[in-house]
Amino acid sequence: MTLPRDDMNPFEAVTWCFDRAANRLRIDEDLQELMRLPWRELKAEVPVRLDNGRIKVFIGYRIQHNGARGPYKGGIRYHPLADADEVRALASLMTWKTALADIPFGGAKGGVQCNPSELSEGELNRLTRRYTQSISHILGANRDIPAPDLGTDSQVMAWMMDAYGQLHGHTPAIVTGKPVELGGSYGRDAAPGRGAMFCLGQWARLAGKDLRGMTVGIQGFGQVGSWIARLVGELGCKVIAVSDIKGGIINSKGLDISKLLQHTKESRSVVGFRETEPLTNEELLECPCDILVPAAVGEVIHAKNADRVRAKIIVEGANHPVTPAADLILANRGVTLLPDILVNAGGVAVSYFEWAQNIQEFRWTEERVNQELQGIMNRACTQVFDLAHKEKVTLREAAFMIGVQRVARAEQLRGFV
Ligand code: NAD
Repeated sequence: MTLPRDDMNPFEAVTWCFDRAANRLRIDEDLQELMRLPWRELKAEVPVRLDNGRIKVFIGYRIQHNGARGPYKGGIRYHPLADADEVRALASLMTWKTALADIPFGGAKGGVQCNPSELSEGELNRLTRRYTQSISHILGANRDIPAPDLGTDSQVMAWMMDAYGQLHGHTPAIVTGKPVELGGSYGRDAAPGRGAMFCLGQWARLAGKDLRGMTVGIQGFGQVGSWIARLVGELGCKVIAVSDIKGGIINSKGLDISKLLQHTKESRSVVGFRETEPLTNEELLECPCDILVPAAVGEVIHAKNADRVRAKIIVEGANHPVTPAADLILANRGVTLLPDILVNAGGVAVSYFEWAQNIQEFRWTEERVNQELQGIMNRACTQVFDLAHKEKVTLREAAFMIGVQRVARAEQLRGFV
């Protein structure tokens, strides 16, 4: 088996998946070229007055990858490694994700290279406003709609909406993932985690697997990971290990998630939770669990550790947590991998509901949001599962094929080529 390079940058890795899907679909090379690269990239200096009176200049990006199926859509990441290649990769993933979920958006992503844990609330507020001002001319409720991602949350979205509103008038539909009090949708916080749970449940039904009693390890205990931890119990699974940036914990008998959430609120980390053994983030990926959920950062499973992953099912809560080389190693070992563009599509699906509610100036109940979310996840999961069987490809290849095919069709219908 010849493995792809394991040192590809994130955008090269996503493009590798795109190329395989596009070639398998026999998409015309000119059209492939049009779909491969981002449509527009904006890089801006974001100067911020710090609490100590000094000015620090951060670098921010907004990258619009493809808008053939609708307005650009994608989160804003605050992270030291949010550079152009990372944001480009995430923007491209959004294009295929929105198409796979069949919601009327394109793909985009934004990021500011910063460490939000080192900034005060006031500094984060000023940074968000300045960044929003710098990118506001390419945003719009029918043009490009940001959302939260790693390192950002509903508070950051509230500041973005306010900063945009100061320039263009009150526009709730300009961002999603807002606080409910400011036009956010019920169920948006839980959405990526709930969607992942629906996806895992649907895959198990289709594959005839019984998940009851299966153990789960989760890397990342933020918006995505903590909600998956709260919800997988509904499938009969038991969470035995979790981690965050400070380290991990394990108890093979299972973790009490509501008490762990309380502990995390008080000590700002899962580390030190009672009746658990400590473990590192690397050890968590190799811990003896049935289902592994990477739900933090990218490329944590690579050619050097893929052989040591003991889980038989990997659920990609995070974006691109597995490199293409590791993907092949895992597939050859018979590990089932539910891919990011399917698993975490619940976030953008409920963002779509929020946007639709804002435009209609109408609010849905949480019950309706969750029901519609389940419909989207089950449909996408079934389509991926069926195509993977028909074409004898992995679930990731099938997911990309569906997304790429839909974007290609939209490009053709618009008459771009
Ligand atoms: P978050 O900031 O809410 O939480 C991130 C978690 O990961 C925290 O527990 C943090 O401590 C931990 N973490 C950060 N760096 C780490 C590292 N190097 N090693 C181990 N743990 C680390 O972020 P989130 O919104 O939960 O996003 C997590 C992932 O899910 C990202 O890949 C993001 O792109 C993806 N995602 C998020 C959404 C969303 O709506 N928030 C939707 C789809 C996909």
